[in-house]
Amino acid sequence: SALLEIKNVGMVYESERSETIPAITDINLKIEKGEFICILGPSGCGKSTLLKIIAGYQFPSNGEVFYDGEKVTGPSWDRGVVFQSPTLYPWLSVKENVGFGPKVRGLNKDIIEKTSLRLLQEVGLEEHRDKAVFELSGGMKQRVALARVLANQPQMILMDEPLGALDALTRLNMQGLIRDLWQQTKNTIIMITHDVDEALSLGTRLLVMSPQPGTIEKSYEIDFTYS
Ligand code: ADP
Ligand code: ADP
Repeated sequence: SALLEIKNVGMVYESERSETIPAITDINLKIEKGEFICILGPSGCGKSTLLKIIAGYQFPSNGEVFYDGEKVTGPSWDRGVVFQSPTLYPWLSVKENVGFGPKVRGLNKDIIEKTSLRLLQEVGLEEHRDKAVFELSGGMKQRVALARVLANQPQMILMDEPLGALDALTRLNMQGLIRDLWQQTKNTIIMITHDVDEALSLGTRLLVMSPQPGTIEKSYEIDFTYS
C-alpha cells in the first residue's frame, strides 16, 4: 500500500476579519515509498498549506491524511521538514543542531556524536562542526538543516522551496547533494519548487497545482535516467 494517502483534503483559513480563505480543495493523492515528488503551482495556491498538513503541523478543514497506514494527528520524527529559510537553533553549534532530534529522543551520547559527524561529512561541513549558526552562509545553513532532518532517520522528507533563497551556483550544488542523498537513503521526498528545471532533474513525479484554492491539476511521471 501507499506510504502516504491523502483523501479529499481541503483547508479553509479564517482571516482576522473572519473572512474565510479557501487555500486548498479536493486533494486526493497517493505516494509510494521511494518516490521523489515535486510540487509546482502559482503563488498562493496552497503548496505550503498542503506540505504542513502532510507534516502534521496543521489539520485540514476536511478530509484525511494517512501515513504508513495510520491517520496523521501531529508531527513525527519519521517525516522530516526543511523550509525555505533555515530554522536552525541559533544557540547551538552546527554539530549540536544536527544532534538535536536524537538528543531530545534520549539516544546514547556517543551514537549521537558519531552520527552527527558522519552526517556533517556527508553534507560537506565536517570542518565547520563547531561553528555558530550565524557564521554560516545560506547554502551551508540548508546543508545543516538537511543533516539535522537526516539524523532522525526519517522515511519521508518534506521540503518547502529549500533552495529558493540560494544563488544559482549554490543551488546547483545543493541539487546534486539532494539527489545523492535520495539515492543513498531511498527516502520518499516531497519538494515544493518554483523551478521547473529543478523539478524535472530531481523528481520522479511532477504535480502541478491549480490557482487558489489549489488542487492537483496534473500529474506527470518523469522518465529519469542519470548519466
Ligand atoms: P503557497 O505555498 O502555494 O504560496 P500557501 O499555502 O502559503 O500557498 O497559502 C495559500 C493561501 O492560504 C494564501 O491565500 C495564503 O494567504 C493563505 N494562508 C496561508 N496560511 C494562512 C494562515 N495561517 N492564515 C490565513 N491564511 C493563510
Ligand atoms: P511560502 O513562501 O512558503 O509560500 P509564505 O511566506 O506565504 O510562505 O508564508 C509564511 C508563513 O505565513 C506560513 O507559515 C503561512 O502559513 C503564513 N501565512 C501565509 N499567508 C498568511 C496569511 N494571509 N495570514 C496569516 N498567515 C499567513
